[in-house]
Amino acid sequence: MSVIVYIENTEGLLKKSAFEVASYAAQIANLRQVQAIAISIGDVSNSELQKLENYGISKILTVTSDNLKSFVNQAYASIIAVATHKEQADTVVLSNSFTGKGLAPRIAAKLEAGLVSNAISIAAFNGEAVEIKRTAFSSKAIVTVTLNSPIKVITLSPNSFEVEERKTSAQIENFVPDIAATDFNTVVKEIVRATDKISLPEAEIVVSAGRGLKGPENWGMIEELANVLGAATACSKPVSDAGWRPHAEHVGQTGIVVSPNLYIAIGISGAIQHLAGVSSSKTIVVINKDPEAPFFKVADYGIVGDALVIVPQLIAALKTHKG
Ligand code: FAD
Repeated sequence: MSVIVYIENTEGLLKKSAFEVASYAAQIANLRQVQAIAISIGDVSNSELQKLENYGISKILTVTSDNLKSFVNQAYASIIAVATHKEQADTVVLSNSFTGKGLAPRIAAKLEAGLVSNAISIAAFNGEAVEIKRTAFSSKAIVTVTLNSPIKVITLSPNSFEVEERKTSAQIENFVPDIAATDFNTVVKEIVRATDKISLPEAEIVVSAGRGLKGPENWGMIEELANVLGAATACSKPVSDAGWRPHAEHVGQTGIVVSPNLYIAIGISGAIQHLAGVSSSKTIVVINKDPEAPFFKVADYGIVGDALVIVPQLIAALKTHKG
């Protein structure tokens, strides 16, 4: 018996979420006194994979064939399902990322497994049944779910779980899965990077602005603040609807969900639909001229004042601080 965890990478480097899911899987494995096994698909060096040894992983399967360098949903799902059988795993853990959300239901269908998405707690096992907490209704409610299926698939909500260092030594095994040619019905021909900006869903820091910025002509200071902080930029829905910013930057219930360590909200009121996309951020800083703005209720730090005055001061202070 074992717990298997799918490890994501970006251009050969493990994602931050990879360490979260590895630690989560290792803690479940430890509770049950079984092995935590990671599976990586694509071009990731052994030295990069060995970083997982700091998070309780004791075996790493690496799948490196040329036709799997780019993400192919069907093929990746089949490989993880095959690996689950090979390792006699009864629990499969993934991040609740774009990739994880695509893979998890496919894997669950292949394994006839129960699925819990957006998990926020360590699963409590009671014989074959497992009890687990997940968020629901755009993180406004927490639901406790029981899975009774022999195999369980869990996607972990990013930033919801304290990563725990646990030193192990992991053996790395090249895994050549036997999967059907039909798993490659979709072929990635070419990937063209649309922007060199930091990817919003992956960003550690997000600088986000709303209608309080008055117009697109004021976004230079948002870009500059983001540059100084090494942050991604985001915006509220009306801002992208008005064409001030690209739709890819819109966060919230109908946009991208972000979970950075730091979310700076500038001139955004804090409507529930916006909060639905940012409430799992670790620290929220709000800059708004209205002290009654709802965003202040969920802020860790707040500055009441005119963003057009405060943001340039903040940039100047950060530049001085950085030297
Ligand atoms: P406003 O509500 O206009 O707020 C502007 C804020 O800026 C105010 O708080 C004001 O005090 C402040 N301000 C003004 N001037 C300054 C200044 N000089 N300095 C500092 N502060 C200033 N919205 C999203 O963002 N994401 C979503 O995914 C989303 N999905 C939706 C789905 C549905 C079905 C619906 C009905 C709505 C959705 N919305 C979404 C819209 C949402 O309800 C709000 O209307 C929107 O978030 C408000 O955007 P805002 O805060 O930028 O603008």
